[in-house]
Amino acid sequence: MRFKKENILVPALWCGPVKPHGNTLLKAIFPDLQVLQKGVDMDIPKHNVQTVTGIVICGTGDLPARAMMLNMVAHNGESACQRCYQRGEPREGTFGVRVFPYLPNRSKELLPKEGANFNQDGMYPRDDANFNVDGIRALTIAKHYAGLKGTTLLSKLTLLPVKGTGIDAMHLIYAGCGRKMLKMFVDEKHSEVKGSVYKTHKTIVDERLLNIKPPAYITRVPKSTVELADWKTSMHKSFFLYYSLPVLKGIFTDLNLRHFSSLVAAVQLLNSDCVKENDLKNVEDLIDKFMSYFKDLYGCEFLTLNFHLLCHLPTL
Ligand SMILES: [Zn+2]
Repeated sequence: MRFKKENILVPALWCGPVKPHGNTLLKAIFPDLQVLQKGVDMDIPKHNVQTVTGIVICGTGDLPARAMMLNMVAHNGESACQRCYQRGEPREGTFGVRVFPYLPNRSKELLPKEGANFNQDGMYPRDDANFNVDGIRALTIAKHYAGLKGTTLLSKLTLLPVKGTGIDAMHLIYAGCGRKMLKMFVDEKHSEVKGSVYKTHKTIVDERLLNIKPPAYITRVPKSTVELADWKTSMHKSFFLYYSLPVLKGIFTDLNLRHFSSLVAAVQLLNSDCVKENDLKNVEDLIDKFMSYFKDLYGCEFLTLNFHLLCHLPTL
């Protein structure tokens, strides 16, 4: 149905040698959003004229889209996290890749004052007020400041840039960290990575996957990892949530399996219909365990922004 011509919505097309500025795209709809936010009188059948209000309260996208809409540096830039001030560091031996070693949370009250540099690396949380202040400062000094290139038009609407920008499971987990880890386990390119089973158990992984008979509500059946490049995001989701632990049991060391299962368990808890305060505490502990051991089990070079964002899952 979504492919029918009458159902396709094309809000904008951009043709040019470089990406547009996020605010350039937002400018096209900004006046209408402002009017809608104040309220518009509409003649509604059987209800006469009513004032209808529309407010942008949240949004999401993949890493490049979120950075563009929030007027931030790209995911490989300094202080690229939308939730905290951790600067990250260039990955050794590479160009254009930044890693974010796991650091303890720091209290918001200890956040360096405006004008201080952020050499004291740490997960100091951003909030909506300081996000806008940092954007204004970047405009004033005409260079990036704390990961901001300037202000975003979104902050002139009701949307709160930090609280209102979601980090969704599809981009972060299934097509993000989950897919990356599966590649680390079975991809030839990563066969020298600590934790890879490419040389020893890849055939067994594929046999186990192909023997799975999922229930009818899973529409795409499991494929061999030989076809990993063709896997849809829904297949990565099924692997992460349902197949990964039984498939990897007996292949992984107990430590590796417990480590990976802590991430699966955290996501399963967050996917629950009802997430209680105590569940969030458990998620926090599970993510802390996952991130604390990651460097020793797989190496710091994989701790890119996506993996760093896992640290913020309990507070999203
Ligand atoms: Zn962060």
